[in-house]
Amino acid sequence: MIADKFHEVEAKIKESMQRRTRVPKDAPVTLIAVTKNHDVAAMREAIDAGAVEVGENRIQEAKEKYETLDRPVTWHLIGHLQTNKAKVAVKLFDLIHSVDTVHLAKAIDKEAGKIGKVQDILVQVNLAKEESKSGVYKEDLQEMLDLVDTLPNIRLCGLMCIAPNYENVEDCRPLFREMYGIYQKVKEIPYKTANIKYLSMGMTHDYPIAVEEGANMVRVGTAIFGPRQY
Ligand SMILES: *Cc1c(COP(=O)(O)O)cnc(C)c1O
Repeated sequence: MIADKFHEVEAKIKESMQRRTRVPKDAPVTLIAVTKNHDVAAMREAIDAGAVEVGENRIQEAKEKYETLDRPVTWHLIGHLQTNKAKVAVKLFDLIHSVDTVHLAKAIDKEAGKIGKVQDILVQVNLAKEESKSGVYKEDLQEMLDLVDTLPNIRLCGLMCIAPNYENVEDCRPLFREMYGIYQKVKEIPYKTANIKYLSMGMTHDYPIAVEEGANMVRVGTAIFGPRQY
């Protein structure tokens, strides 16, 4: 069941890549299986079907699963991170997608330094300026990226965004297109330590459009695991 759905999502990503018009069709896409609110048994099913990247949004939940899961995977933090949880986050996660303030970036840098790690991160952009969502406004992005590039224990790897939950999913397209443009520009900047290679955008309802418009990392939960029970 989970395996079938995982393969379906993989197939849809391939179809979306074929529909690309402004983005190289062969630019690969990393599929993150968003396992939040699903148990370790469900995670194993996805991993055995080929998932190698998992996404979680809460530190405590991720920690419990991290200690239980008997499969090697890459861990992504996709949810909002509080500064006081940076210490645990740097121990668990390979990539933190949700860095949205200088304050948080500095906390991650400090905690990563303590354990001798260089933490890979993405900066979250709030392109639609939704009050309910975190993320840097595009006007403030340059300053944020410049600062992050100076932090020795952080490696800036790209950008992340969450599209508004539009009734008509096509309404996301201009936003994804604009994000891809911003990402392309940021890639050109000769940073000292940054290695800009990921544009993380697209979830269950909008990932096919995100992939068409240039996402190379998508975060998909419901389409693989079914609805979450809270
Ligand atoms: C939960 C979550 C997802 C996955 O959402 P689905 O709609 O279940 O695919 C992706 N990104 C973030 C930031 C999330 O919190």
